[in-house]
Amino acid sequence: MENNNDKSKIPSNFIKNIINKDLEGYLLDKKIHTRFPPEPNGYLHIGHAKSICLNFGLAKEYDAPCNLRFDDTNPVKEDTEYVDSIQEDIKWLGFDWEDRKYYASDYFEKLYEYAVKLIKKGKAFVCDLSADEIREFRGNYEKPGKESPYRKRTIEENLKLFEEMKNGVYGDGEKVLRAKIDMAAPNINMRDPVIYRIAKVEHHRTGEEWCIYPMYDFAHPLSDALENITHSICTLEFEDHRPLYDWFLKELEIENPPKQIEFARLNLTNTIMSKRHLRNLVEQEVVEGWDDPRMPTISGLRRRGYTPEAIKNFCEKIGVAKSNSLVDISILEHCIREDLKDTTRTTMAVLNPLKIIITNYPEGEVEYLDADNSRTNSELGKRKIPFAREIYIDREDFMEKPPKKFFRLYPGNEVRLKHAYFIKCEEVIKDENGNVIELRCTYDPETKSGTGFTGRKVKGTLHWVSAKHSLKSEVRLYDHLMLEDEAGENIINENSLKILKNCYIEESMKDVKAGERYQFMRHGFFICDKAGEKAVYNRIVSLKDKWKKIKNKK
Ligand code: ATP
Ligand code: MG
Repeated sequence: MENNNDKSKIPSNFIKNIINKDLEGYLLDKKIHTRFPPEPNGYLHIGHAKSICLNFGLAKEYDAPCNLRFDDTNPVKEDTEYVDSIQEDIKWLGFDWEDRKYYASDYFEKLYEYAVKLIKKGKAFVCDLSADEIREFRGNYEKPGKESPYRKRTIEENLKLFEEMKNGVYGDGEKVLRAKIDMAAPNINMRDPVIYRIAKVEHHRTGEEWCIYPMYDFAHPLSDALENITHSICTLEFEDHRPLYDWFLKELEIENPPKQIEFARLNLTNTIMSKRHLRNLVEQEVVEGWDDPRMPTISGLRRRGYTPEAIKNFCEKIGVAKSNSLVDISILEHCIREDLKDTTRTTMAVLNPLKIIITNYPEGEVEYLDADNSRTNSELGKRKIPFAREIYIDREDFMEKPPKKFFRLYPGNEVRLKHAYFIKCEEVIKDENGNVIELRCTYDPETKSGTGFTGRKVKGTLHWVSAKHSLKSEVRLYDHLMLEDEAGENIINENSLKILKNCYIEESMKDVKAGERYQFMRHGFFICDKAGEKAVYNRIVSLKDKWKKIKNKK
């Protein structure tokens, strides 16, 4: 799956099967041409990544072009901030539209001419019904629609009214242009759908040039046609719109019309995906912004520490299918672990410190010990870590009254300090409220790591840092942004962010730069969010692989 060099090894899917057939048929000796058509009304999310990987991925595989097209036909919600972020995200994922960046708004003039052509063919009419009336007249699955009283307008009258619509003679909602198809069609999308509406709002690119805007169902097939797209890949909810897509292409006599193919959109557990909902989270300040590390946006995942490779592998792994399903988010987490486990250096960090004084270690002495940077990849080298009389361990690694099978530190027990010595807990120091504030331990110089000591064994190995040498840092731990309540409804997880301000990180981390990734032994993978004296680390993912467990059980 990982190897893209040998095409015979690339798993096929139903879209490739269609393409392969077309390349042997009507596209013989031609190239396919795909596009990714985001609406610039929000930041891209992991669902869009699936569509990007599919469209740009097919192009790469078939050595063919893929366009980026901003589907900007709804000026009320669109903004250049989104246009910029979308380009940044696609590039970051590693895809390239080269010189093929387009906007549906580039085609407003041509789309207008297409609409005029439909009117001239008697296939479109100006309708004065209100939005509510149009809905009522449309009927439903059981009930056929009712024809608009304006359906019988003459071609001349329609041409004049449509031009007046364009010239701003009418207000928002006063008139629309509709295709004249069939109000009794079993497919409701074919019941004289609206193709142009009046909206007197400024467009982020065309300004006030236009006050009528084409509907998606009209603009999309024709934009595809204008760009010579061969395969217009979209999500399943457009399946019922395909007859309309084809109708416009046929009535407007488009040669070599593009073909719409639908696939299942990505749904992830513990995640809401629609831009509308994500925008709400930003606006209501549930999160800190579109790139909050908890967001399923591409910019959020980037800041969280995900790599483009992990996201692309994820999209490859889940594949493309023709029916909707819910993907377990642990698969995404599995993919980032797989990408990081052999490529990141391991260091030690204490997130919830408990001080230990090693009473038989000389005061003022420091000893630099050898430590491997990775258990699995020797290319990552070694480092030196300071050992001294005062150290920190994580509070969770000590219990005064341990249950059975607790192999970490407790009074009288001996454990190994990673890369260092065995220590034994001799005394527990408490404050006046009975809270443990410090431990007194002894170490055994014979047990030094790397010397091949075999005298006795201990069951627990703890991470630690030298108190004096370590760097105080902030660490942010994340949990899923969404949870399911008992009724299966998505609710916001109030505890999705935990900020630990009192963490101690190994001295070797003093020159870390923002954006660098590390494994903190026993805590997971982290990315440096802010470097320097007040460093901040975000946890990308913990070490526990829930997906591996699920998979092995199957
Ligand atoms: P949203 O509901 O999240 O706003 P959208 O479909 O309205 O999504 P667009 O900007 O119109 O967003 O989408 C651009 C492309 O990405 C479309 O081709 C769309 O089908 C695809 N896409 C959007 N969401 C997903 C998803 N969850 N899985 C796969 N593809 C998606
Ligand atoms: Mg949309």
